[in-house]
Amino acid sequence: MAQSLNVFIMSILKVARLGHPVIRKPTSPLSEKELKDPRVQTLIDDMVGTMREYAGVGLAANQVHHSKQILVLESKKNPRYEDVEEIPLMVLVNPTITWFSDDVMEDWEGCLSVPYLKGKVPRPQSIEVKAFNRKMQKLDFKANGFLAVVIQHELDHLNGKVFLDSMKDLSTLTHLDEYGKYWAE
Ligand code: ZN
Repeated sequence: MAQSLNVFIMSILKVARLGHPVIRKPTSPLSEKELKDPRVQTLIDDMVGTMREYAGVGLAANQVHHSKQILVLESKKNPRYEDVEEIPLMVLVNPTITWFSDDVMEDWEGCLSVPYLKGKVPRPQSIEVKAFNRKMQKLDFKANGFLAVVIQHELDHLNGKVFLDSMKDLSTLTHLDEYGKYWAE
């Protein structure tokens, strides 16, 4: 049986939590050769699968123990969270934010690497992003509101930061149960 195993095998990856050094280490950019390596393409597929499995809206490669500048984002309408905005599946490689608006919004954030906690984080409401897609084609776009927040949160990960670092103070930091009891609208 020399036949190749030509089936799609997707792996759910283990998510690194705060305290694991990989979360605090700035990541490195990918060359075109690295990005086109089938192993890196598989990593991207696995990041998408892992994000969906844990119902995240974004995932950075260092959250799954790869210290590389790759982000995946996606948000689907969920009957349980009707106010959540949709984000089509996006893969951002070597992303940078080239412009931030002066107006700031403050919203609740949580993180797969900081489980069971939520806190309010002020962020610029609009940004301009330069990045590459998974085929190393150039992307340049503006993002507003929820999408801008998710991109900033994920891009912080690539620089070794988590949302706690961006909170104005820790007074709104809350466990999920208490969030549901005292803070959810
Ligand atoms: Zn996060």
